[in-house]
Amino acid sequence: MIRKEREIPIRIRKIQSSLDRVIMPSEKRAILEGELKSRLAGYYGEKAIDYYLRKLPENENYILHSLRLQMKSDYFQIDTLLLTDKYALIIEVKNLAGELFFDVNSKQLIQTTADGEVKGYQNPVQQAMYQKRDLEKVFQSKAIHLPIEYLVILSKPSTILKTNSKYAIPKMIHAQYLIEEIEHLNKKYHIVIHEQKAVKKMAKMLAKLHCPETYDVLKANQFTQEDIQKGVRCTDCGHTPMQRKHGTWICPNCCKIDIHAHVKAVEDYFLLFESPLTNQKFRDFTFLDSEQTANRLLKKMDLPHSGNGRCRMYYRLN
Ligand SMILES: [Zn+2]
Repeated sequence: MIRKEREIPIRIRKIQSSLDRVIMPSEKRAILEGELKSRLAGYYGEKAIDYYLRKLPENENYILHSLRLQMKSDYFQIDTLLLTDKYALIIEVKNLAGELFFDVNSKQLIQTTADGEVKGYQNPVQQAMYQKRDLEKVFQSKAIHLPIEYLVILSKPSTILKTNSKYAIPKMIHAQYLIEEIEHLNKKYHIVIHEQKAVKKMAKMLAKLHCPETYDVLKANQFTQEDIQKGVRCTDCGHTPMQRKHGTWICPNCCKIDIHAHVKAVEDYFLLFESPLTNQKFRDFTFLDSEQTANRLLKKMDLPHSGNGRCRMYYRLN
């Protein structure tokens, strides 16, 4: 049973919005596009293992995706955590294409892509081991007594894994062997430590402990609010602004008609400005003239809000 769904990471959404809206030099754009590409690959890699996780019995396993927990002043993130009544399993997903070489001497993972590019990565097995160490501390503080296992999953079946070790790299496998590995763990841990009901409670509690990532994309990239292009953006051709006519939004560039186009503009506003929205700010951002229309559109979006009338503040939904 999934207790915490996998979401598109907020950093990906913020980078995407800034690429759509912020006027920036081409070198900066290229860097952000590169970051977006690699983060999206990571996200799709994590999503790819969901296919295998769905094969697990629904009632015996609790799955928490993209769990970010606090350790004193620091945070650690687990791609997927599987909780059973006998053990917990940390799954660290790597979506790396081409050939991977694990050097047992330097303990480094070296990737050679199809076009010959060579990149080095931190040892992902060690990364997962650190997550285990941190999670053990969280478990201790919450009286959870489950032993913790960890696995690094290569999500691309085409990735070639090589090593200079005499043995296979422990705890690093391709996604298609995940279920086999879980079955192996089920045999290894056959003593029930917590009742199913208690495991369900633990999963709920861990989901509550999740701290969403905070990332101010403007500040991080030295952009200012003045660099942001205002207006409702056309979802087809990217032209900004669309025009409000006959109760809908029309793109003057490609003639696209989209009654809901302002919804994405509101999302962009929240992702970039990091502040609540008001009727005035909404009109300013979308170039809407009518306070009544703005009111109606905002109300329809059913956003969390506080205050009334002109002082009403709207907040991001997620
Ligand atoms: Zn258009």
